[in-house]
Amino acid sequence: MRFRSILRVSGGRTKSAFSLSRFEAKRPLSQLCTNHERPSFGIAFDIDGVILRGRKPIGNSPQALRKLYDESGTLKIPFLFLTNGGGVPESKRASELSELLGVNVLPSQVVQGHSPFKKLVKSFENELIVAIGKGEPANVMAEYGFKKVLSMDEYASYFDNIDPLAPYKMSPNDITSTASSPRYDVSSERVQAAFVVSDPVDWSRDIQVLCDILRTGGLPGKEIGHQPPLYFAADDLEYQAAFSSERLGMGAFRIALESIFNRIHPDALQYTSFGKPHPFVFKNAENILNQLQPFSRDNQVVKDGDAIGHPLTSLYMIGDNPAVDIKGAQQAGHPWFSFLTRTGVFRGNENHEKYPADLVVDTVEDAVNYILDKEITSSRKI
Ligand SMILES: [Mg+2]
Repeated sequence: MRFRSILRVSGGRTKSAFSLSRFEAKRPLSQLCTNHERPSFGIAFDIDGVILRGRKPIGNSPQALRKLYDESGTLKIPFLFLTNGGGVPESKRASELSELLGVNVLPSQVVQGHSPFKKLVKSFENELIVAIGKGEPANVMAEYGFKKVLSMDEYASYFDNIDPLAPYKMSPNDITSTASSPRYDVSSERVQAAFVVSDPVDWSRDIQVLCDILRTGGLPGKEIGHQPPLYFAADDLEYQAAFSSERLGMGAFRIALESIFNRIHPDALQYTSFGKPHPFVFKNAENILNQLQPFSRDNQVVKDGDAIGHPLTSLYMIGDNPAVDIKGAQQAGHPWFSFLTRTGVFRGNENHEKYPADLVVDTVEDAVNYILDKEITSSRKI
């Protein structure tokens, strides 16, 4: 990698990071985008540990993002958010991000861990499925087009005593409120698939009921049956939230479920995980970036499969997690270029040993300044 070599020659990561501060946007963005032509590059931002910590912007992220719009708030540089997080529909997440960051974010600019679940609608559109996780997992799936979806909260509430610890938990409302009027006859209708949409809240209940569903072929309390498909939106072992050290993520939940299931069931757990670092996530991001239409009044996206003009020739991934963001960009290969920030999971002085980024920076603003400066310089040479 060219920039890794440059860093070694220049004497180390810290020096390189300091030198980035001089890339403060001194040159106008208009130099990049004359005559409303689309730039030849796009940017993918991780959210947790790069843009936000909890709900608090970090690394001057609002200022950095504003540099990608013109004075009137029209998008000039194609970018999207590429996160393994989720739990709310993309439209709602876009509104939240717009409010927190002060820019106009479209639903099409938000790719969450569970976004690829849309592609499974054809297989399970009219089948009973269960959606697990914080936030609004059933709403997410319903918005994608799944017609018979129950949240784990609702599904578990249909079974008396399925969770023997329920009376000891702080919020038993969900467990008792809907039990009287089930929408489906879960004693005879099998769950055809389970989707872990976002980080599970009640691990003990969710592991218990998932084991019930998975080992009985979708009918808890009944005889052993064929395991229905199980999907995870992501497989992050840890992620950076508001607390000072990393928190256990969906990958940790998957390990717990898998360990237990494999002890109580003769066949090993079968599952599929989505999210970064899988290369298809980056391919999908590339397709979306190629379809984003800057300079339009409402920052439209063209319909699937129709790229606008020339494909983007440089794609930048800005992330904080070497095993997720950087590994993913490396695997995706050309034209992806990776930035590792020091505002989240990664805090090292040097580059990450196992998954070294093309460039290490202190903050997302440093990365954006670097990109804009580099692209302006290269556009002048043409
Ligand atoms: Mg992150």
